[in-house]
Amino acid sequence: AGAEPVTRIDDLPVRDELRGKSPYGAPQLDVPVRLNTNENPYPLPEPLVERIAERVRAAARDLNRYPDRDAVELRTELARYLTRTGGHQVTRAHVWAANGSNEVIQQLLQTFGGPGRTAIGFEPSYSMHSLIARGTGTGWISGPRDDDFTIDVDAATKAIAENRPDVVFITTPNNPTGNAVSAETVLALHDAAQAAKPSVVVVDEAYVEFSHGASLLPLIEGRPHLVVSRTMSKAFGAAGLRLGYLAADPAVVDAVQLVRLPYHLSAVTQATALAALEHTDTLLGYVEQLKAERDRLVAELRATGYEVTDSDANFVQFGRFEGEGATHAAWQRILDRGVLVRDNGVPGWLRVSAGTPAENDAFLDAVRELKKEQS
Ligand code: PMP
Repeated sequence: AGAEPVTRIDDLPVRDELRGKSPYGAPQLDVPVRLNTNENPYPLPEPLVERIAERVRAAARDLNRYPDRDAVELRTELARYLTRTGGHQVTRAHVWAANGSNEVIQQLLQTFGGPGRTAIGFEPSYSMHSLIARGTGTGWISGPRDDDFTIDVDAATKAIAENRPDVVFITTPNNPTGNAVSAETVLALHDAAQAAKPSVVVVDEAYVEFSHGASLLPLIEGRPHLVVSRTMSKAFGAAGLRLGYLAADPAVVDAVQLVRLPYHLSAVTQATALAALEHTDTLLGYVEQLKAERDRLVAELRATGYEVTDSDANFVQFGRFEGEGATHAAWQRILDRGVLVRDNGVPGWLRVSAGTPAENDAFLDAVRELKKEQS
């Protein structure tokens, strides 16, 4: 008897734009030091774990019912957090939450992008912007960055004027490069976009709590097309929770509800996020430690002779690795020493997330040895 025929993805009637594509995913390898996905290295503190258990136990008693579809209590607390830390007063009417900021971005593209429409991002940047565009049938335009990974306002506004996108993504601090975008640049791109066509400008602030500068949240005032996207995955140390949110004009919050699945945010998720928000001050204390470690990584990498892109995030882009295959070879040499960093496909550059001091020491030892080998 012959072997069972194996059905492959491309044997299925999948949409044309998905043919031959691979799913997003950083390698999840079992190595001692994992600094490849910009996670927060600190486990949640024990009192918070206890509080989550309490809140989830209470929620469990009501799991026969659908959750609060509008997540009112959670949005109220997120608005309080934003008002406290973002330099601008918002209410729950300005805030919407979903399962990770990836879902927030998906809902925005379902609402403002879609078939026959386009979105632009300035690359290299967060690759899920283009992948979610593809998944929602939104055309993708790769906008330019300079060689130093800053956004050149003239080049970027030209790309906007020529392509007239429906959605503009600006990631600040940017992933994977780490550098922030100034308020002036964001405003210039916003104004250029509005001049070309009424469009939505999404400022992805996933890493803003690690920034030397301030949040761009105040820019939503008087700009109903400007959306700030946030997450609890990084600063709150809760990547496993899956909780992202946005702040914008209340009309945007109303609009995304046209596409959100009913009851998309489980009662368990809402309870857990509320518990984490009760411990904001402790969690932001870890952010301060990570910022100091990030600055140490930048300084030590430079002292060792690497080039480093200025970082406002909880990760650092370093290089340069010159020559065919050199970047991946460097990634492998670092991995051989038990440290997993990220090759984002930016030629010549790798990215390392700030870990605990001991993890960062292990990384620095590995790249110092690599430098010795190479010289
Ligand atoms: N935006 C940026 C710039 C990111 O780097 C990430 C996570 N890597 C996200 C959004 C998505 O985060 P999450 O879905 O966990 O909120």
